[in-house]
Amino acid sequence: MLTIAIQNKGRLNEDTVSLMLDAGISASASHRKLISDAKGFPLHVLYLRDDDIPQAVAMGVADIGIVGLNEVLEKEQDVEVLMKLGFGACRLSLAVPKEVDYQGLKWFEGKRVATSYPVILRKFFADNGINAQVHQIAGSVEVAPAVGMADAIFDIVSSGGTLIQNGLREEETVTFSEAVLISTPNLDDDKNREIEKLKFRFQSILESRGMKYVLFNLPKNKIDEAVAILPGMKSPTILPLANPEWVSLHVVLHEDILWEKIEQLKNIGATDILVLALENVIR
Ligand code: ATP
Ligand code: MG
Repeated sequence: MLTIAIQNKGRLNEDTVSLMLDAGISASASHRKLISDAKGFPLHVLYLRDDDIPQAVAMGVADIGIVGLNEVLEKEQDVEVLMKLGFGACRLSLAVPKEVDYQGLKWFEGKRVATSYPVILRKFFADNGINAQVHQIAGSVEVAPAVGMADAIFDIVSSGGTLIQNGLREEETVTFSEAVLISTPNLDDDKNREIEKLKFRFQSILESRGMKYVLFNLPKNKIDEAVAILPGMKSPTILPLANPEWVSLHVVLHEDILWEKIEQLKNIGATDILVLALENVIR
């Protein structure tokens, strides 16, 4: 049976548990347990701090894990990144106090930079030929310049609000991150087959996110116009109605373009438009 390591609490825990739930796998969300069995898929679930997940997977304590790519890059453990999971998006950036007249990377020469990601940062400075002092601190990195511990910071940014609150300005984005599924390299065939099943479930969930199932009635002579409005569709499903002048059209649309398309369809005579949630896209 596979063992998966997930974050016990914190930012990734909830999205991880709900991705698994959408995939028909219920794991206890409780962080008081260290290990439990999931329902809906043969899986042991190991609850760890996110920092420990790459190592647990590299050692084979867990066969797979869900963790931020930032931790995978920082810990440099021997794990395989199997797929991106579409949540926990953030970037790792260099930020300087807002009063600094920043002219480019050369500014960091000889400066002290506080971070919880020393490996990623040292590599970035080395790749760019910058000699800076990297100071590793465990938390509250963003207050380091204000208290005189550093000249700048390198940290996780999502909205950027925390930087602004601390009088800092983001200057260089070094890398992007999101939650990823990782595995121990060279697992046996049985485990790989189980992992493929799990990936297939996650993939179908990710593909259905943001998608809506839309059906509407349309005068039969407007089919060509409707198809032109719905680009990228191989072919919408067209069903006859009792009235031979009318048809029912069924399409899957992303919510980003939903309202725009609905307006265009109404303009060519679409009526009785139903928009339904889509649970799964299985290809
Ligand atoms: P742990 O106790 O498990 O070590 P933590 O305090 O290190 O937790 P969290 O703050 O829970 O970590 O963040 C976990 C992960 O969430 C990060 O490593 C990153 O991949 C992702 N993340 C996404 N957006 C943000 C953000 N704005 N700040 C921090 N982490 C973020
Ligand atoms: Mg952590």
